[in-house]
Amino acid sequence: MKTIHSLRDLRAELATARNDGKTVGFVPTMGALHEGHLSLVRRAKKECGIAAVSIFVNPLQFGPGEDFARYPRRPEEDAGLLASDGADLLYVPPSDGFFPPGFSTAVEVAGVTEGGEGAIRPGHFRGVATIVARLFLQVAPDAAYFGRKDLQQVAVVRRMVRDLDFPIRIVACETVRYPDGLAMSSRNAYLSAEERARAPALSRALFAARDRAAAGERETGALERETRLALEAAGLSVDYVEAVGAETMERAARVAPGVALTAGVRLGKTRLIDNVLLEAERTPP
Ligand code: AMP
Repeated sequence: MKTIHSLRDLRAELATARNDGKTVGFVPTMGALHEGHLSLVRRAKKECGIAAVSIFVNPLQFGPGEDFARYPRRPEEDAGLLASDGADLLYVPPSDGFFPPGFSTAVEVAGVTEGGEGAIRPGHFRGVATIVARLFLQVAPDAAYFGRKDLQQVAVVRRMVRDLDFPIRIVACETVRYPDGLAMSSRNAYLSAEERARAPALSRALFAARDRAAAGERETGALERETRLALEAAGLSVDYVEAVGAETMERAARVAPGVALTAGVRLGKTRLIDNVLLEAERTPP
């Protein structure tokens, strides 16, 4: 695996790969890698000639008072994991000087960014769309891999790619979980032992709602209410519990193919998000 720090070297490396007829699969990340990230890398490697991974803790997507400064950074460990998991290229732009002086452009995706995480974290998805657009232009991949754990992020990226005609196939990959159900996340590192023991209440409540839908409940309002109660009973502070269409992020009143139940909670100082599909899509991603 080659680690690259400059755009010039990145472009040279990718040009060589393309001259050899290889397609490029791209996995953008913020590092502190875990099995969730690595599952995307393996999928990229399976489907493309080369798997390129970026690690960049993107300041644009953190709001004031959020955890940018203390976000976990483990560059050496990350490089080791990627090398042993078959990544071909690791792009680590410098944390200073990555943006040109006076950087003042933003990509704003309307609609899908309004509810859920967008409502709780104003400006977050503007920061995500802007960095993803910039990285897409730098890497120019054939396909890019994202995790369904961040369902709204997938919807934002898909919409941006469709609206701006990025010639990139977006692949949404299943959420990787610990055996107790908790979705893997770099932010789990913030949890105390006591909080870590309580955190699986989030996925448990979502799975219970999915089971109720499978057993015939069609009203998402009932599922949202029960899920909220279960989360509160477990001592989690609920930011939102909402059933939405996975593509549109619009609230769905009834269970239907492609409707997901999404939740954002706080456990101590840590925010956790998760979602489950209440009914499988007609054409899976
Ligand atoms: P992050 O480093 O948190 O920005 O995540 C980078 C990519 O990994 C995003 O597309 C995430 O959705 C994805 N990802 C994070 N956690 C998981 C997980 N538990 N399962 C699958 N994908 C994940």
